[in-house]
Amino acid sequence: MSQITDSMTEVMQYIEDHKETYLEWLRDMARQPSVAAQNRGMKEMAEMVARYFQEQLGVPIESYPTDGHPVLYAHLGSPFDGAKTLAFYNHYDIQPEDPVELWESPPFAAEERNGKIYARGISDNKANLVARLAAVHAYLQVKKKLPLNLKFFIEGEEEIGSVHLPQFTERHADLLKADGMIWEFGGQTEDGQPEVFLGVKGMLYVELVAYGANSDLHSSVAAVIENPAWRLVWALATLKNEQEKVLIDGFYDRVIPPTDDEKELLEEMPYNEQRILDRLELDGFLLDLEGAALKEKLLFQPTCTICGIHSGYTGEGSKTVLPSEASVKLDFRLVKDQDPHEILQLLRDHLNRHGFSDLEIRVFSAQKAARTDLHHPLVKAVVRSAQTSWGQTPAILLTSPGTGPMYTLAEQFGIAAVSVGVDYPGSNAHAPNENVVIDNFVRGIKHMAALFEEFAAK
Ligand SMILES: [Zn+2]
Repeated sequence: MSQITDSMTEVMQYIEDHKETYLEWLRDMARQPSVAAQNRGMKEMAEMVARYFQEQLGVPIESYPTDGHPVLYAHLGSPFDGAKTLAFYNHYDIQPEDPVELWESPPFAAEERNGKIYARGISDNKANLVARLAAVHAYLQVKKKLPLNLKFFIEGEEEIGSVHLPQFTERHADLLKADGMIWEFGGQTEDGQPEVFLGVKGMLYVELVAYGANSDLHSSVAAVIENPAWRLVWALATLKNEQEKVLIDGFYDRVIPPTDDEKELLEEMPYNEQRILDRLELDGFLLDLEGAALKEKLLFQPTCTICGIHSGYTGEGSKTVLPSEASVKLDFRLVKDQDPHEILQLLRDHLNRHGFSDLEIRVFSAQKAARTDLHHPLVKAVVRSAQTSWGQTPAILLTSPGTGPMYTLAEQFGIAAVSVGVDYPGSNAHAPNENVVIDNFVRGIKHMAALFEEFAAK
């Protein structure tokens, strides 16, 4: 095994010398739209990913069909006996680019400005995918053999809730064996320190729909005909109070407060409150929270969020109308041990109990939270390799406040997953002018290459 524990200097130098090539790969992928929600460019993107794996790494992509977009899978073996297996989870789909008028350059131009590349989906999640691909490429160019086996799971529906991923994991559980998994996202704190996330929150995403008459009506009849928009607003008002407490019976039953160990990590966790508030042009956080209490709420408390409300006339000027229908999209970010299906039932019961049994609930996604043990060897390997590549000890976050199918793909198979990546607080994921910092992208490639040896040796 001596040749694989040699200094990584040569690999790092190779990455530095070939960063223009890797940036070109990134621009190439960023120029290809792949919007799962609109089924736009998905086939082309899957083919492009397959082409890169074949041409640059010499391995075929296996495409596993689902009722939605296929899951792409690739496997690279190590010649060393007893080599560990490291898996990667990424996605080739991206969010829609609108509102396009707020972009400073076209969303698929991959324009470079001020050391950054701008494109929809570049930070979420193409730069992380390409950085990992590039790390394998650079490592193989220099060292010829991998110190561990690698598996890539690249799905096409992350941005629409990974709806068909369970089909893949149920049919191909045999592929889901690994000693650790690197999750799709991650970045830097407001102060530029790299971040390592040990988990994700869960999610229940629903739409509530209230119905009135069979068509929109002249609003004069509102004197005698029920307005579904008001019913919806009244129903929403029963869900949460002004102290930010969710009022659904049983909602908090499985929410566990942080342990002493976790509290200590929360204390240490960097969270530059002033910088965040300045960037958002706000005077304070919810309920004027700060310090440990703020961080605990962010990572250890579930949410109930109105993502959008739709009813009646919302165009220019006025139109007196009594809507026939009103709907709201709601997401609940859930914490470990909360079961989205149970929360759904609690929500149904709550609405019924408050006289809203007529409201329809449409479910868009239901995902459980996941969390990796702080003491898992993968965590140590990720931290050490970050020290090599970023020159800094990363901040460890017990969970991301965001969501992903980490339970589905990793935790239920006993695979420990850790999320690291090349984003930063100004990446504008899901927003106009999404971008990555070129230097971060290059560091991200080095981080992954360094991780191969660190984790292989652990
Ligand atoms: Zn996303």
